[in-house]
Amino acid sequence: VNEFELIEKLTRSLPTNKSVVTGSGDDCAVLDFGLPDKLLLFKTDAIVEGIHFKTGAPPEKIGHKALARCLSDIAAMAGTPTAALITIALPKKFDETVVEAIYSGINALARKHDVAIAGGETTTNPERMLISVALVGLVPRGKAILRSGAEAGDAIFVTGDLGGSLASRHLEFEPRLAEARWLAEHFSIHAMIDLSDGLAGDLRHILKASHVGAELLTTSIPVSRAAKLASKGESSTKPPLLAALTDGEDFELLFTVASKDAVPVLDAWKKQFPKLALTCIGKITPGEGITLRDKSGKRLLTAHGYEHFAK
Ligand SMILES: [Mg+2]
Repeated sequence: VNEFELIEKLTRSLPTNKSVVTGSGDDCAVLDFGLPDKLLLFKTDAIVEGIHFKTGAPPEKIGHKALARCLSDIAAMAGTPTAALITIALPKKFDETVVEAIYSGINALARKHDVAIAGGETTTNPERMLISVALVGLVPRGKAILRSGAEAGDAIFVTGDLGGSLASRHLEFEPRLAEARWLAEHFSIHAMIDLSDGLAGDLRHILKASHVGAELLTTSIPVSRAAKLASKGESSTKPPLLAALTDGEDFELLFTVASKDAVPVLDAWKKQFPKLALTCIGKITPGEGITLRDKSGKRLLTAHGYEHFAK
C-alpha cells in the first residue's frame, strides 16, 4: 500500500460534526466556529530525523522547517496563521543546546509571521528525533482556496522554481503567505496547493479533487539551478526536468485561474513581487491525468511525486 492509498482508507469514514466545512483531503481543514467573518484553518505536520532532515543538520533550520511546512499549508488556503503547538520527541540521549536551537529557529519564524507558540509537548522516541506542529489560522469566510475549484481552460501557475530542494534550500524556504493572500485578494483563484511532494504529485491532487486533467508545456516548467547542477553530478541519474516534476520539498504555490486572468495576474505579480518568479506552465483540460507537451508532441506523464511508503 502506498501513502495515498493508506490515507484514502483511513479517511473514508472519519467522524465529523457541524464544525467541519472542509475535512481531510485539502491542505488544511476548514472549520466553522461561528466567528462572524472568519473560518478557522487547522493543520498538523511532522518532520522526522533521517527523512525530512539529516542527523546533524543545523538545528535552527530544522526548527524553521518544522513550522514553515505548516505555514505553507495555511498559505495554500490563502489564510493567516495564528497560533501553533509544538510536539518534540527526543531520543534518550540528546544535546540540550541542539533542542534550544531548534526552538529558536521555530520562534524566529513564528515572530516573523506574528504566530504565537501557545504550548506543546515533549516526549521521547527511540533513535530518531521527531517534531510535530499543530497550527490554527484564519481565513475570511468564503475565501479559503481549495484544491477542488480548477476548471477546464484554467491557466496553471507556479511560483519560484522547482527541483533539487533537498540538496539546497529545503531547510530555509520561506512560506508564501503574503503572496497567497495577495493573490486571493486581487484575483479569483480557482484552486491552490503548496508543492510538498513535487509538481507531478501535487498537481494530481488538484486534478483529482477538481475532476479535470492538465496539459503542461515542458519548456515552460521553471527548473531550479540546484536541479540543473545535480543532473551534472556523477551520482545523479535524474534529468533536471524530471527533478523539477518529482523532487518535492519545493514549498512553492501551484494555482489555477481562468484563462482571461492569466495575463493580468502575471502583470500585477511582476509589480508586486519583482524578486519571485511566477510562471504559467500549462492549462487545465477536461478528462484526467497530466499530459506533457513539447516540440515532439504530447505524452502522458506517468511520474508521480515523492511518496513516503513507495517501495
Ligand atoms: Mg500542502
